[in-house]
Amino acid sequence: MDRRAGVNSTRYIRSVLRTQECSRHFSYRPKDDPNQREEFTPSLSSIYSHSKVFHFLMARTPSTAPRAKKTPTKRTAAETPTPAPFPSELPLLPIRDNVHFPGIIFPLFVGREKSVRALDEAMAGSEHILLMAQRQVAMEDPDTEDLHEIGIVAEIIQILKAPDGTVRVMLEGKERVRVTEWLQTEPFFGVRIERLPPAPISVLEAEALMRSVMSQFEQIANTGKNIPPEVVVTLLNIDDPGGLADHIAWHLPSLRVEVKQELLEILDPQERLQRLSLLLTKEFEILQIQKNIRSRVEKEMGETQREFLLREQMKAIQQELGERDERQSEVDEYRTKVLDAKLPEEVAERAAKEIERLEKMPFGMPEGVVIRSYLDTLLALPWSVISEETLDVGAAEDILNEDHYGLAKVKERILEFLAVRQLAGTLKGPIICFVGPPGVGKTSLGKSIARALGRKFVRISLGGVRDEAEIRGHRRTYIGAMPGRILQGLKQAGTRNPVFVLDEIDKMGSDFRGDPSSALLEALDPEQNGEFSDHYLEAPFDLSEVMFLTTANLLDPIPPALRDRMEVISFSGYTEDEKVQIAEAFLIPKQIKDHGLTEAMLTIPEATIRKIIREHTREAGVRNFERELASVCRKIARRVAQGDTAPVTVGDAELRELLGSRKYHYGVMEELDEIGAATGLVYTEAGGDVIAVEVSPMKGKDGRLILTGQLGDVMKESAQAAMSYVRSRAEMLGLAPDFNEHLEIHVHVPAGAVPKDGPSAGITLATALASALTGRPVRKDIAMTGEITLRGRVLPIGGLKEKVLAAHRAGIRTILMPAENEKDLEDLPENIKSEMTFEPVTHADQVLKLALLDKP
Ligand code: ADP
Repeated sequence: MDRRAGVNSTRYIRSVLRTQECSRHFSYRPKDDPNQREEFTPSLSSIYSHSKVFHFLMARTPSTAPRAKKTPTKRTAAETPTPAPFPSELPLLPIRDNVHFPGIIFPLFVGREKSVRALDEAMAGSEHILLMAQRQVAMEDPDTEDLHEIGIVAEIIQILKAPDGTVRVMLEGKERVRVTEWLQTEPFFGVRIERLPPAPISVLEAEALMRSVMSQFEQIANTGKNIPPEVVVTLLNIDDPGGLADHIAWHLPSLRVEVKQELLEILDPQERLQRLSLLLTKEFEILQIQKNIRSRVEKEMGETQREFLLREQMKAIQQELGERDERQSEVDEYRTKVLDAKLPEEVAERAAKEIERLEKMPFGMPEGVVIRSYLDTLLALPWSVISEETLDVGAAEDILNEDHYGLAKVKERILEFLAVRQLAGTLKGPIICFVGPPGVGKTSLGKSIARALGRKFVRISLGGVRDEAEIRGHRRTYIGAMPGRILQGLKQAGTRNPVFVLDEIDKMGSDFRGDPSSALLEALDPEQNGEFSDHYLEAPFDLSEVMFLTTANLLDPIPPALRDRMEVISFSGYTEDEKVQIAEAFLIPKQIKDHGLTEAMLTIPEATIRKIIREHTREAGVRNFERELASVCRKIARRVAQGDTAPVTVGDAELRELLGSRKYHYGVMEELDEIGAATGLVYTEAGGDVIAVEVSPMKGKDGRLILTGQLGDVMKESAQAAMSYVRSRAEMLGLAPDFNEHLEIHVHVPAGAVPKDGPSAGITLATALASALTGRPVRKDIAMTGEITLRGRVLPIGGLKEKVLAAHRAGIRTILMPAENEKDLEDLPENIKSEMTFEPVTHADQVLKLALLDKP
């Protein structure tokens, strides 16, 4: 503590002001207005210049402060009160939230009108005023009973009026007084007072009390933060026991107003000191507890922080150590796995090298991830896992029949293939390719074969594959590299001898990224697939045990290199009768089961089945048909789930409700024998259909052909060939040799049924052209299909079965077809064959003869 003697008055006054600023007293100052504070601060200088202050300060400095007499040990009377320097009638200033004591200089903010008036009155008179604490802080306009009776007289040292009417006043507490009479309450309080002289003191006792109270106060000042050290220095220099008690009471910001008032009212200085001592003890304890709490909190904070840091460090260390262990155990695990996987020697060496690289790699290298995923992929491949084959041709036949209706020729071919396999013990031979429209059971037959052989089944689709890397994988240097689809398929199968179906090989393309078909050939060709190399794997994989099956919708788009090595097994579309059979024997029971229904709950009569086939599907296979059946089952399942378990028979009305109104209309037979229109049969991806080819000659030049209907190149060429043929037969048809010189000919083939195998519309185009040019009508009950050459030869076409089925469905009973396709008629179901007339032709002349009627 600063014990420098000679406290200068500036310091004292500053400390007074500072303490005051801390006190609640200032809570009435408009807080948000910093100007108010600034207005007050400069006034310090005016305080010093004020002569009264100067005199007062000079009087209060320790050297001149009144001292208690030290020698007498008995209680003596207090100094006889000097004649009052103030009158006995004074204006009263109520103080809201503080109690002031004699001997102290303090500022005060005065805002209430009554108080300002009281101040005015005081200034006009003796410059003394009575300060009296209110009993209740909140009271704005206290009455006499709301005020205490004991207060102090203070002298006004300085007064400053602010423009807002409030007044800042610097006061010096003088003496304790009691109100003896209320003289007036308006416009300010006026009172009569009596002085309250201090009780006599015992000097020694007082000294002892003073010392002990002072040391208590020092302790508090040291512990707490609210008391500036200058205040302590000042108080050390006070010799008067009552004065000391007053100063301490005033400087202790934590004392409540009532307690201060109580101290003010104790007239005996010793008693006041004793009371204060008690309060100080309590205060010190509170401060001590506060300090303990604070230091505990600080310590705890410190400890948590320390702990946190240590834990972090520990984690880092553990990670470092644990990581090592992890790395080691990871590497060990890989080594065991490599042993277990029974890898071919070359591959095992590769794997060992990679494991070694991983082992040496520093922690956190991205390359580690690449190595791990390489090893994982390598180990996930079925290098030596093989399913035991149960090859028994007889049993296989049963399984194939169990799973699929019809498909007699296909099944036969497959059984032959399996028989050879059984006898020769090898799969070497051409690659099998199932060609046919979607939904005819190509893939599902593959699945049956797998079941018959007891092998695993995998299927990948090659539709849209253009990049060689998709087949053969990306080199590991590429980010995110993966093995190709073949090896991914094997990984999925989990054995190295699955039945592996490659769907849609006709939808595979090729571009600048390489030709996937050559990579595919390498995988499929039994001559070379013993050592299939995938770019990612960088080690050969033996595919020779895999039974590959490929499927395609059309044969033409299959890359020639592949097509050459393939044995094509054609699937034709199903007739309506066949579809009904398939539905009844396979699809409906399967869907009922899949949807958690029972056969008792749902009956779909044959008539409804046919209606679904005719009106809700347009396809050669049964894929969409099956989907529609599933949709029926789903809706019934929902009803059942909602509690409606009544058995349902799906009639017409039910069907409309379940599937909506019909979706498809087929080409039907023309109603009249038309001129310039011939009925052709086309084969589309969805099966066969009937189309009307229309020709209309117009005035123009050179017999130019205008072709409309989104025709492909092949179709256009067919039209040109047909036109050339008709021109070459002008004479036969009775046309002028230059009939086309002033004509333009518009040929239209309805879109929506654009045939994929363009040339087969050749004879239809020729017939329509001849009819239009000669004016002879075409028989409406005939449909035709066949490619035409310039000289009129009729060449064979594909998809005869689908085409015949479409014609039959359209109500047409006579079909003109290439003679070379006669063998295909065998595939037709007997019931259909017996209803139709087939006219095999080899030349277009025959066609015209059969199809064109005489001029009407
Ligand atoms: P694809 O591969 O030819 O496009 P899917 O093999 O996917 O056709 O067959 C579609 C659905 O039709 C499958 O659920 C299949 O079981 C069924 N299916 C096709 N043909 C038959 C058939 N002859 N007998 C029983 N179900 C068949």
